[in-house]
Amino acid sequence: MGAIGNAMTSRLLRLVVLLLALPGALAAQRETTHADTLEIHVLDVGQGDAALIRLGGEAVLVDASRGRDIVLWLEDLGVDTLLAVIASHNHADHIGGMPAVLSDHLVRRYLANGRAPENQVAADVEAILAERGIEAPAPPWEPLHLGDARITVFPTALRGDDVTENNSSLGVLVERGRFKALLTGDSEVDELNAWLESGIIPDLDLLKAAHHGARDAVTPGWLQRTRPEVVVISVGRDNPYGHPHPWAMRYYLAGNRTVYRTDMDGTVVIAVDRHGRYLIRTSGARER
Ligand SMILES: [Zn+2]
Repeated sequence: MGAIGNAMTSRLLRLVVLLLALPGALAAQRETTHADTLEIHVLDVGQGDAALIRLGGEAVLVDASRGRDIVLWLEDLGVDTLLAVIASHNHADHIGGMPAVLSDHLVRRYLANGRAPENQVAADVEAILAERGIEAPAPPWEPLHLGDARITVFPTALRGDDVTENNSSLGVLVERGRFKALLTGDSEVDELNAWLESGIIPDLDLLKAAHHGARDAVTPGWLQRTRPEVVVISVGRDNPYGHPHPWAMRYYLAGNRTVYRTDMDGTVVIAVDRHGRYLIRTSGARER
């Protein structure tokens, strides 16, 4: 069997293993979108971050990757109105597509870390928010509700003038039934540990790896405390940063965790029913 066959077999096996191994996994895979299914799409946007969360016709976008491509992704998913757009932090691989999203879509509110713009795209975002009158409240924020799912957005727990942009990433906790997922932008260990100490991080089902699987964004202790069953890494093929780092991969893969990578698996979709049972499907990586 060739490499492609092996890759397919490995993916199929992984799905079977996942379904057998996870107490929360649904018994059967369902390809079509159900109005009552919460979906988290970790989009295959290359070296950047963008995730769409939707349920029952309402949608929330977390980060917008590097450029206008995000608008095509939203179009493909049939999304025109966004209940909220969340910018984890203001680096271009997370907000590069924000000007296009804010210009082309009806956005109810924009949640960001509140730091003064340090690059052109952050300044552009600020100008478009003002021009279009999009509400951009400061924290603390009430949880967002997508049907019976709840999205809690919280700022860094670090204090001081020397907190970096990465460590000012917002945390996004998605809950439905007993299901819990956490997205943390490009947080590094200092921010992750500060949140742990603050008690805001629960036992997780799904963790979107912080900082594209960088070495400085995970420790065995963080994984032992948060206990995710599944980890998704948003990362570009052949990226110049060496993401994900081999040591980070070693930590993520330990303890029977299932790890998905957008550079190898394509878009990763987590589908969650009203009880919090979930399954995962992937699009397969795009052609080069
Ligand atoms: Zn990043």
